[in-house]
Amino acid sequence: MKILVAVKRVIDYNVKIRIKSDHSGVETANVKMSMNPFDEIAVEEAVRLKEAGIATEVIAVSCGLTQSQETLRTAMAIGADRGILLETEVELQPLAVAKLLKAIVDKEQPDLIFLGKQAIDDDSNQTGQMLAALLNLPQATFASKVQVSDGKVTVTREVDGGLETLSLTLPAVITTDLRLNEPRYATLPNIMKAKKKPLEILKPEDLGVDIAPRMKTLKVMEPPTRKAGVMVPDIKTLIEKLKNEAKVI
Ligand code: AMP
Repeated sequence: MKILVAVKRVIDYNVKIRIKSDHSGVETANVKMSMNPFDEIAVEEAVRLKEAGIATEVIAVSCGLTQSQETLRTAMAIGADRGILLETEVELQPLAVAKLLKAIVDKEQPDLIFLGKQAIDDDSNQTGQMLAALLNLPQATFASKVQVSDGKVTVTREVDGGLETLSLTLPAVITTDLRLNEPRYATLPNIMKAKKKPLEILKPEDLGVDIAPRMKTLKVMEPPTRKAGVMVPDIKTLIEKLKNEAKVI
């Protein structure tokens, strides 16, 4: 069984985001970049399936700048067998990524396709759903448990009211939620080994995919700053303020 995992290079989740002075986007120059955290979970899950003898090969795919090779090397250090970079400097929107991934799925014919539930930079939560639609494959989003057996995959999903369990026929698209697993740290020997694993670089033109952006960002703004709170001396004052000033009780 072959597994394809989509990994995106994003601003590291620990970085305090700065807005560009012209409000056209966020500052990415000299900013620490890492693999999207949900994609790390996706790679970890695929590697665990390989270690359990269920999967035979794990392929990591990233779309974007040439630096995304680092993200693919991280995926390979976690345990992916090889990487594919769809290299472009064009700003990629979810539909473009879904089309690029579809072209790779058509070529590689994986049995399972893992994506993160959302990228922490654009917060779109669209790519997995679009990919499943383009491929006409079953999808299970927000997976918190994945079990593969007899050509089927059982996925537990976190939904508002609790947990939902789905059974999908393979091939299928799964997007990962936070509680699916805890990704391992890549060890130094595995980081060194990852440098020698195959990494193929393709251009969107090679695949005949139109990646032209369909949306235009008009303005990016900081959230309004919150006013400082006040300390109240006792409960009586608090209740008075909630009643008369905030008017919430
Ligand atoms: P989004 O729909 O942008 O929130 O992204 C959802 C998931 O799609 C991510 O967690 C990744 O697994 C995948 N994805 C999005 N953009 C890219 C990209 N440029 N390269 C590889 N995978 C991506």
